[in-house]
Amino acid sequence: MSSWGDGTRSVRAGEGVAVPGAPLRPSPVFAAPFHLGDQPPRAHGADAYARTEHPTLRDFESAVGALDGGRCLSFATGMAAISAAVFACVSAGDRVVLPSDGYYTTRLLARDELERFGVRVDYVATPEIEAVAARGDLDGARLVFLETPSNPLLDVCDIAAVARAAHAAGALVAVDNTTATPLGQRPLELGADLTVGSDTKALTGHSDLLLGHVSTTDDELFAAIQRWRNNTGNTPGPFEAWLGHRSMSTLDLRLARQATNAAAVADLLAGSPAVTGVRWPWRAGDPSFELASRQMLRPNGVVSAVLADEAAVSTLLSRTRLWTAATSFGGVHSTIDRRAQWGGDAVPPGFVRLSCGIEDTDDLVVDLAAGLDGLT
Ligand SMILES: *Cc1c(COP(=O)(O)O)cnc(C)c1O
Repeated sequence: MSSWGDGTRSVRAGEGVAVPGAPLRPSPVFAAPFHLGDQPPRAHGADAYARTEHPTLRDFESAVGALDGGRCLSFATGMAAISAAVFACVSAGDRVVLPSDGYYTTRLLARDELERFGVRVDYVATPEIEAVAARGDLDGARLVFLETPSNPLLDVCDIAAVARAAHAAGALVAVDNTTATPLGQRPLELGADLTVGSDTKALTGHSDLLLGHVSTTDDELFAAIQRWRNNTGNTPGPFEAWLGHRSMSTLDLRLARQATNAAAVADLLAGSPAVTGVRWPWRAGDPSFELASRQMLRPNGVVSAVLADEAAVSTLLSRTRLWTAATSFGGVHSTIDRRAQWGGDAVPPGFVRLSCGIEDTDDLVVDLAAGLDGLT
């Protein structure tokens, strides 16, 4: 498995021994309770109740876990996975360090829920966390939560350096790996205790599913997160798990096209007089370029840039046919999200996150160029 390339791993990750007569990919098993024999539940590997686990979920989790290099627990959404990772690690009185520039709802989770339970939350911007860690300012933290590349500003931090400092300070490290995907970055190999992802995004990548996951190599953390899932009931159903598994088979192909498109789109944007602040971590000269090239395994399709104002973004969107106004990212469609409309990110009114889909590069570039033409 580890010697295989990304295409092979996307298709074959988590597959067991082939059974003659069995389908290549099992169909979903739709059941809440399962027949119990006269044995205790699970005594012989028999399923009992699907909130705890079910066969379709196990297949999906073993595939995602194989890509992450750990054991995976899947959740109904990315936020459910992040909540599980955080709540399974912290207790009242603990200190948690979160990115100040990360996914908005993660900050809401901290502000609205964690703080209410007596957890102290400190916010550090992604480009600053390494210096904060080096100064010893993680002392007393129970959990350091990173998001790299950060969404939507696409800043990158050094996972291995922060993990060393955090572990020396007695803290656990979790990484939100959503933007990178498990093919683009393996936080567990870089020293993180937990890697989490919104699989709503590129991992499943068709804009038709909500899913999330946590992976770890630590059996105690795995058990704590599994207990959290059992107790809170955040388990994805069989149809979601099956569709997630089916969708991730093409992850390598989709990422490759999305990254090709992103390189061309970032160049086009950077050459436009209507655009400033183009960010794509794999573009030479990007503030994240050097670290992303060293730490990450491959690029993806998320680009950010700044237009003059809200009106400029509206004009652009009204002129393009292929660039659809939508939030979320990582899907097969190319989309543009004006982040300031949501009110959660510290970005200017004309800041956009572009998610390059898998359409033809030339079509996307021609369409976007037409949208930008004449804008200032
Ligand atoms: C979308 C996203 C989430 C939340 O995922 P949901 O599946 O929408 O709950 C968390 N982190 C990042 C970085 C995201 O982009």
